[in-house]
Amino acid sequence: MYFDLQKTVRMCIIYGIILSSLLLSYTNSGLLIPVQRSKNMAYGQDESITSYIKPIVATIKESDSSSRNFTIQIPNMAKGPAINPAKGYLVQEIRDHLYWVTDGSYNTMFLVTDKGVIAVDAPPTIGKNYLKAISEVTNKPVNYVIYSHAHLDHIGAANMFPKNASFIAQEDTAAELQRARSATTNASFLPPLPTVTFSKNYTLQTGNQSLQLNYYGNNHLPGNIFIYAPHQKVLMLVDVIFPGWIPFPYLAVANDVAGFIKAHDIALNRYDFDTFVGGHLTRLGTRDDVKVQKEFVSDLESAASKANHDVSFVTIAKQIGHFENPWLLYGKFIDAVNQKCVDSMLPKWESRLGGADQFMSTHCFTMSEALRVDPTVAAIAQNSTSANS
Ligand SMILES: [Zn+2]
Repeated sequence: MYFDLQKTVRMCIIYGIILSSLLLSYTNSGLLIPVQRSKNMAYGQDESITSYIKPIVATIKESDSSSRNFTIQIPNMAKGPAINPAKGYLVQEIRDHLYWVTDGSYNTMFLVTDKGVIAVDAPPTIGKNYLKAISEVTNKPVNYVIYSHAHLDHIGAANMFPKNASFIAQEDTAAELQRARSATTNASFLPPLPTVTFSKNYTLQTGNQSLQLNYYGNNHLPGNIFIYAPHQKVLMLVDVIFPGWIPFPYLAVANDVAGFIKAHDIALNRYDFDTFVGGHLTRLGTRDDVKVQKEFVSDLESAASKANHDVSFVTIAKQIGHFENPWLLYGKFIDAVNQKCVDSMLPKWESRLGGADQFMSTHCFTMSEALRVDPTVAAIAQNSTSANS
């Protein structure tokens, strides 16, 4: 299904990563926000968002390859289809009028029905190229927009859709967007508030097509939903599973680590799917990709648990020799736990998933910390240990 134009793919990966770092930063709450947005600019209403792509690609093209400090080595599993850098996006039919659109860093999907288009999410990096992608395959209007969750890096360009469309989201997503509106006097950068909300389940039937929206509780963020296309056997779940790659740092800043772990089983046990849309990076996923990440998370549980057990706080305290700065002690303890966990994870995973060497210590930190303090994560780990013994 995928062809490999190595050079173009590498370029897309580079610009995707650089683009992400340009566009994203963390607030104290962990919410992803764009940092290069002008004060009064709504996402998707200004070409400057997508216009980052061309200058970045041009800069990389002009740079002297001999002066580059980084070698690019990614496992075959992490590679996806080539994206024409001049175009900046790729749109492909997955099956039966369901399409995915990607810029190599972010991806999403839309469904063409005989009554109009159902668009899922609106990542600002794709921006108005999303509208171009839709117009490549249909001239029907977008009459429904679904928000996967409240994070602006996935829905921040939703202002570009027709004002009379129905905007559908789980009620926690609606509450977060309402909270954001209450916190500002200029809400123009925020996506439209949902006009239709639901608590647990919602089926969007339009014409001859349908999407099932299901919520099982917190995982990456309260309100993050499973979006399922039953006719096409396609499942979308954003910011949890990253086909071909290890997750974004700190288990993709999982708001609820136990929910994040559980989401893998929910995907595999409750959905009959063969194609997976994860919201990020180079390619679509399969059922096997979800199984691979489940194995990764399970290995991480074991490695972090063993590191927590094996690293002696007392030994570290003896080495430091005083307790006047407790954070120094905890810092050294956390470093030692992370290192032990990373050493145990990398040999297996650096050749299997992209980005393993970059982010492994962040995943080790999130899991080891959750195992120390989160009762449900500790219970899950205890359960899997007793099941394996
Ligand atoms: Zn997110």
